Amino acid sequence: MTSNKATLSVRAGIDSDSQYGSVTPPLYLSSNFTFEDFAKPRKYDYSRSGNPTRDMLGKALAELENGYDGVITSSGMSAVYLLSKGDLIVAPHDCYGGSYRLFSSLKDKGIFDVVFVDQGDPVALTTALALKPRLLWIETPSNPLLRVVDIAKICQQAGSDVIKVTDNTFLSPILQQPLDLGADIVVHSTTKYINGHSDVVGGAVIAKTKTLHEQLAWWANCTGITGSPFDSFITTRGLRTLGVRIRQHVENAEQVVDYLNQHPLIERVFYPGLKDHPTHDIAAKQQNGFGAMFSFCLNLDKSCLKAFVNNLEYFSLAESLGGVESLICHPATMTHAAMSLEALKKAGVGANLLRLSVGIEDVNDLIKDLDNALQQSRLESVAGAQVKALTTDSQPSSHDSPADSKALGEACL
Ligand SMILES: *Cc1c(COP(=O)(O)O)cnc(C)c1O
Repeated sequence: MTSNKATLSVRAGIDSDSQYGSVTPPLYLSSNFTFEDFAKPRKYDYSRSGNPTRDMLGKALAELENGYDGVITSSGMSAVYLLSKGDLIVAPHDCYGGSYRLFSSLKDKGIFDVVFVDQGDPVALTTALALKPRLLWIETPSNPLLRVVDIAKICQQAGSDVIKVTDNTFLSPILQQPLDLGADIVVHSTTKYINGHSDVVGGAVIAKTKTLHEQLAWWANCTGITGSPFDSFITTRGLRTLGVRIRQHVENAEQVVDYLNQHPLIERVFYPGLKDHPTHDIAAKQQNGFGAMFSFCLNLDKSCLKAFVNNLEYFSLAESLGGVESLICHPATMTHAAMSLEALKKAGVGANLLRLSVGIEDVNDLIKDLDNALQQSRLESVAGAQVKALTTDSQPSSHDSPADSKALGEACL
């Protein structure tokens, strides 16, 4: 019987305890397991190599991603590290900052070579693939501009000699199944939507085939980056509500996007669900929904940006994403702060760009909150312009007035 993903996530490991018949599976914290007899090991011997609670989560995620099995790691970054092999890796120029840093650092150590390309540019991708990489890293949608690339097309072009990996963190298996589109491996930072409650840092690597899975599991045990049983237990608990959470996340995000998109203080909204998003068509084709992450440019100067963020009650200023609570992030000073000004510009991350992770609160409260903060920041902006006009005894510069802030808006892209 093939069941809906939401059903599968609810049922993960339910009613599987043969000892007491507990409905919810038990948590096996034990670091080691006895041998049944001399030279007669049981299924498990040591929790770094294998643990029932952790393995259950790996199996559950594999079921959701239509893979063979999953390796659960201590973080999304260790999941990325697990995959770092091969002579040459081709990765997206706008991949997650931590992945970029890890690939670059392993390259610097001489472990392998890496080239970063815009995978949405067919010429650049063809040139990179001609170098015969061992591994192709795909991440879609991208952070923070939500650029989407065509997984099926890219995987087909790469061919069967290349290990195709997709980071599916931003959408979760409810909204996108890369293995069905030709990828060999899916990577998750389970810290985000999979756990969904911002109380675990974890990762997962799901392979399509048994051979690949066994290689990954061997390496995870060898390096000791397997996740803890307790984290796996909490993550499985979060996973059960993935279906309803994602549905509410997306519904809320769409309404918040609609509200911001018509607001005069918003220069532009970057959400794949909008028809004017450059990669809307690909997203519509390969995703089962447009997700709950988006970014936008505020048509105000920096001090008003601060006022806007500080006046928000229901959007906490924090990195990370995918939790039930709404978050706001200023990429230029937070997630992307390590990048040079030039690199930021190239990546399209301007000073006025803000990113939202829309939570599952009542959407009317979220919109009221944004509306209030926008009003407050506008007042601040007008007051700032007046003070400047009085103190400099001249007309306020065009940059200080929201009515004439086209120039500022350009800083956004
Ligand atoms: C957060 C994140 C990671 C890294 O995961 P951690 O759990 O923070 O180590 C990797 N990829 C993407 C897309 C992420 O958002």
